[in-house]
Amino acid sequence: MNKEKTLCIIKPNAINDNNIGNIVARYEKENLKVVAMKMVKLTKERAEGFYIEHKERPFFGSLVNFMTSGSVVLIVLEGDEAVSKNRKIMGATNPADAEPNTLRKLYARSLEANAVHGSDSLPSAEREISYFFTDDEIFPRS
Ligand code: GDP
Repeated sequence: MNKEKTLCIIKPNAINDNNIGNIVARYEKENLKVVAMKMVKLTKERAEGFYIEHKERPFFGSLVNFMTSGSVVLIVLEGDEAVSKNRKIMGATNPADAEPNTLRKLYARSLEANAVHGSDSLPSAEREISYFFTDDEIFPRS
């Protein structure tokens, strides 16, 4: 098994619905460990930079608006196969297609307001973690 790190973002809708604790508890139960965490309000520029790969998509502006509509919680998770494990725990992008008991099935409000972000590959995870965290803000655990 490969120990990996991945980025999770708890999106504004999940914060509004008081689901921070439920989401973090689920990761801990599944043995993904929190090694960094902070709550921030993204600026438009920071959200645009994060989602730069979607710049040409028709929903880009709406997604950036949503992600800056309230605070978000940024979390670095660590564990065996953390990237793919987190994608499985989150469920499909569209909550209508998400498996039962996935975070998006449980806590999303719409395709856009789908409760959580999770890195989709190891290279993305590395880029995304370093986009938000410096090395001295991350506390790896055994
Ligand atoms: P993810 O990796 O599962 O988050 O999916 P994507 O990278 O394809 O999309 C990034 C985020 O954009 C998703 O998590 C949704 O919040 C949002 N999104 C994706 N597709 C759509 C869409 O068709 N319309 C809108 N409004 N938002 C979308």
